Amino acid sequence: MHETRTMINTQNKIIIITAPSGAGKSTITHYLINKYPALSFSISAATRIPRGQEQDGVDYYFLSEEAFKQKINEDAFLEWEMVYEGKYYGTLRSELDRIWLAGKVPMLDIDVKGAIHVQQQFGDNCLSIFIEPPSVDELKKRLESRGTETPESLATRINKASYEISFSHRFTKSIVNDDLTKACEETERVIKDFLGW
Ligand code: 5GP
Repeated sequence: MHETRTMINTQNKIIIITAPSGAGKSTITHYLINKYPALSFSISAATRIPRGQEQDGVDYYFLSEEAFKQKINEDAFLEWEMVYEGKYYGTLRSELDRIWLAGKVPMLDIDVKGAIHVQQQFGDNCLSIFIEPPSVDELKKRLESRGTETPESLATRINKASYEISFSHRFTKSIVNDDLTKACEETERVIKDFLGW
């Protein structure tokens, strides 16, 4: 566990969307952020290389491993994880402050372990939604069709997914994504309830 001490005001609200990779959480997160200007995507720091059209400071703050470790030493992260072998991902405290200062609610798209750690720190001010793929087979098909995985990285993601699905009950709400439109609508309803909209 890589939870770090927090000085953040945990009265501020926070929304976490978590899921195994390929379950559709990024699509659902972006659907909501585009629809509600009061929700803001929390840009994580990561040490992997950008994929496709990804941009630094938009999709992630892409850091070298050295720069990432420097930030760990500075206690700059609310949470961080080595999500895949040798690849670090983390939520910067400064990112949440940036969003709260703008009067918005941060939406974190983070892995299951990171989500559990943030949830422990924020309690009732945190809404955590687990997006569940209909099955591991379906998840494998989706990741294959995305075409961004090597056979090795696909196998890693599938193994991790099976493990992560076993944690679905740890979150405020679990939503099965067997129909993307319905999953978006249900997530939207849960978020509106949480924010009292
Ligand atoms: P990808 O490499 O596909 O962009 O992301 C891999 C995984 O890392 C996804 O499950 C994503 O949600 C997770 N992730 C992204 N940012 C963070 C973060 O700041 N902290 C943690 N714990 N996981 C993250």
